[in-house]
Amino acid sequence: MFKKILIIDNDVLFNRKIQEKLQNSLHFSVTAIEDLDTNIEALFDYELYIIRLDDKTDDIIKELTDKDKFVILITQHDNKDIREKILSYHVSDYVVTNSSASVGFVYKIVQRLESNTRKTILTVDDSKLVLTQMAILLSSQNIHYVQCSDGAEAWEYLQNTNSKKIDLVITDYEMPNMNGYELVKNIRTTFSFEELPVLVVSGSEDTYMISRFLKVGANDYITKPFINEEFMGRITNALLIVEMFDKIKSMAMTDHLTGIHNRVYFYEAGIKILENANRAKQESAIAMIDIDNFKSVNDTYGHEAGDRALIHVANTIKKALRRSDVLVRFGGEEFVILLPNCPHKQAMKVMQKVCDYVAKSPCNIGDNTEITVTISIGVTSKIVAVDQMLETADKYMYEAKQSGKNRVVSQD
Ligand code: GH3
Ligand code: MG
Ligand code: MG
Ligand code: MG
Repeated sequence: MFKKILIIDNDVLFNRKIQEKLQNSLHFSVTAIEDLDTNIEALFDYELYIIRLDDKTDDIIKELTDKDKFVILITQHDNKDIREKILSYHVSDYVVTNSSASVGFVYKIVQRLESNTRKTILTVDDSKLVLTQMAILLSSQNIHYVQCSDGAEAWEYLQNTNSKKIDLVITDYEMPNMNGYELVKNIRTTFSFEELPVLVVSGSEDTYMISRFLKVGANDYITKPFINEEFMGRITNALLIVEMFDKIKSMAMTDHLTGIHNRVYFYEAGIKILENANRAKQESAIAMIDIDNFKSVNDTYGHEAGDRALIHVANTIKKALRRSDVLVRFGGEEFVILLPNCPHKQAMKVMQKVCDYVAKSPCNIGDNTEITVTISIGVTSKIVAVDQMLETADKYMYEAKQSGKNRVVSQD
């Protein structure tokens, strides 16, 4: 997280616009000055600098990048000389400020640098020089990296459960022990395209080689020697695709009304959690919950009030659970709770607590109206196939309804 940003720009209007955009959208502490004649305390205490390139700022840019500070350059000129000059500094990026979109571009770069903090790239090459070259580039983008000198080392790193989570692999082709082709092949036996993208960087311009790599599961290919901007552009794109995929996946697994997980999550992740607990010989339980007389809440107070009550019930249940318990909205006014590593007696205790919490916490449905809803819960701890467990829990939940609602029923 960038705590402090300094803008040095004598274009007052642009200067102000960036400052406002960054402050309002990202809540950073942003200081803005027009030139270096302004007396500024602790000039080197900032983490990110946005600087307009001119004769006066030349020295400071060099000094800052030598100190490994993040620098984004802005310039009005868009020509080859300027571009080459900019590329001679190790800055994070530059923006040509010749259109109304320029402020947005600067903002996007800051946002990207910020989110890169959470990214780690595995770089694989038998040349120390290439590894160092990539390291300099990745550092300027605030991206963490791990270095391996051949495919075998990289594959071992990826398989080790104690390794850092890798967001992208960049690999060379020709390497001793295991080459890039074998590495990609191995990676795809375990990680999907979206989970772990692979970029191949190779000196070979053999087009057949490129298509072989793509066929075996590489996401993209860059030929050496590469232009830094192209290299970074492809990395940024690959990381962006993973980020978008993660976002879509998380949206597909979230219930939009209550914000808790939904049925898709239960079948994707929930079942795995239960299986892991089984493998570890831990007792587990599944509870099926249904709100009592919910139709009458809708009929009496309206559907919107019903929605509020649903959100309230989800939040109340969550408060009574452990972090490792999985709560999902299974359907309309039904919830399922997965209690991994939880013996039956304890599961019953927790579910009684859930039942009491809901019955005792009134819900504000607007217009200063408070209502109280209750829930019925069925619990099973007999570990069989998940669908069968759900069926059993549902049967006990039905029994809870039959015997008066607002209660927990189980096999014993
Ligand atoms: P019981 O105690 O037997 O469960 O009675 P009930 O009224 O809760 O059962 P029933 O299955 O007859 O009604 C469930 C109601 O839940 C009907 C449906 O309109 C309502 N419901 C389902 N999903 C939503 C939702 O997303 N929002 C709102 N407001 N109501 C919902
Ligand atoms: Mg090589
Ligand atoms: Mg129902
Ligand atoms: Mg109901």
